Amino acid sequence: MPTSATTLPRHQHHIGGEQVAPESGEYIPSFNPATGRPWYEAAAGNAADVDRAVRAARTAFEDPRWRGLTATRRGRLLRRLGDLIGEHAEDLARCESLDNGKLLREMRGQLAVLPEYFYYFAGIADKVGGEVLHTMDPAIFNYTRREPVGVVGAITPWNSPLLLTSMKLAPALATGNTVVVKPSEHTSASLLRLVALLDEAGFPPGVVNVVTGHGRAAGAALVEHPGIDKVAFTGSTETGRAIAGTAGSRLARVSLELGGKSPNIVFSDADARSAAMGIVAGIFAAAGQTCVAGSRAFLHEDVHDEVLSLVTERAAAIRLGDPLDDATELGPLALREQLEKVRHYVGLGLQEGGKVVLGAAEPEGLGDGWYYQPTIFTETDNTMRICQEEIFGPVLTVMRFRDEEEAVALANATSYGLAAGVWTRDLARAHRMAAAIDAGTVWVNTYRAMSPLSPLGGFKQSGLGKENGPEVIHEYTRVKSVWINTSDEPMADPFVMR
Ligand code: NAD
Repeated sequence: MPTSATTLPRHQHHIGGEQVAPESGEYIPSFNPATGRPWYEAAAGNAADVDRAVRAARTAFEDPRWRGLTATRRGRLLRRLGDLIGEHAEDLARCESLDNGKLLREMRGQLAVLPEYFYYFAGIADKVGGEVLHTMDPAIFNYTRREPVGVVGAITPWNSPLLLTSMKLAPALATGNTVVVKPSEHTSASLLRLVALLDEAGFPPGVVNVVTGHGRAAGAALVEHPGIDKVAFTGSTETGRAIAGTAGSRLARVSLELGGKSPNIVFSDADARSAAMGIVAGIFAAAGQTCVAGSRAFLHEDVHDEVLSLVTERAAAIRLGDPLDDATELGPLALREQLEKVRHYVGLGLQEGGKVVLGAAEPEGLGDGWYYQPTIFTETDNTMRICQEEIFGPVLTVMRFRDEEEAVALANATSYGLAAGVWTRDLARAHRMAAAIDAGTVWVNTYRAMSPLSPLGGFKQSGLGKENGPEVIHEYTRVKSVWINTSDEPMADPFVMR
């Protein structure tokens, strides 16, 4: 792709509170998906840049300006950061929309809640401590200390850079860690703006560093770096598996938020309109480029035709267009490769015998943007590749089922286990389904709900560990057990374990 690279604004790494040029002198163009044209270049990080950032993070971790800060003060910094995000919401929203094509409307909604992630973990910061334990010897006083793990390497994808990075930064900082972030090579801009706000909030230099660049260079170097104590990764299952292998070989901690092929199950007693809107929201919001996309709809045979026709009718009316336009409902795919992937899977679905009832084409009249029509396949079988592999685009497969048992079997017949939607008015069935579904999140009569207060994380090939909620504190802390002998008596028998 020819670019006017040299005239584009250039973004540098953010290391130790300073903008740092890449050691290689190379930059990567980043494209606006609505126009298909580059709009800035980001530093192409390599192992030398990563090493510099990890050293800065280690220095900051040991620095009394951070290490000596009380947890309450750390909470105060996080609250200040939340306020600043609120003040700069429009700028951050626009920036991300230009970078990955997400609707500005959706980004404004995301920015309205993003400060809450920092407020929530600000509140948790000084509630995280150890505990005093009972002992088997009354002379022994035993307590635990919950300590930060050290330097965290965070690696994030392109579909929601601000949100997915904040899910890592907020708990990592609340518990006293320092961080090096490697954002997706396709979307660095919004995160670099966020980091400038961290400085403004008063976080000491080096507490959060950003090295931009490709996964195989900067990302791999971060995972391999012996100075990284924990890797927090969001991205594809394939990359997650490779990262877990590398991190595991040097016994570094790792948490993984990976892909999905989530079911959206509609029973015959459900409110058909609500269920249909839930299915549309699940797969066509963000052009299907969300890890929790409800890409497999299972409709009970008694309501199959009715719900399918409601979904198709609403999907056919979706307004495609410029993500910055408030009237737009479906923007472009974030990457040219993503458009090619969607085309490929639609072709595969047709070869496999799926019937297209909507879409399966690129829209006319939207210039060079990477748009694709909302697409619905029926007559699919859950074993087809389009029903098993993550497409990460606006492609829905619709299948029918006869009873609850079959719905559970179909929903669980996937290597993934990230999320699921269940639509029913039967309370007992809702609870049975919630228990039977093999996924980290189950939504009943809603879809794509998310909050910093509730744990998020997949089962099976969808991940390892959790983000959000009180649980995530365990991911960013280590526990030390301290034994204090309160007796002055010497050990009765030094050769016997106490
Ligand atoms: P990706 O795996 O290609 O890349 C993710 C990040 O990893 C990028 O920053 C990339 O540069 C980096 N990377 C790539 N190879 C690497 C390597 N060998 N070592 C270290 N880092 C490397 O994923 P993507 O295409 O950017 O994002 C889409 C994927 O993310 C989808 O599969 C989606 O389901 C998943 N996702 C999951 C969640 C979740 O919370 N479970 C949320 C959003 C996206």
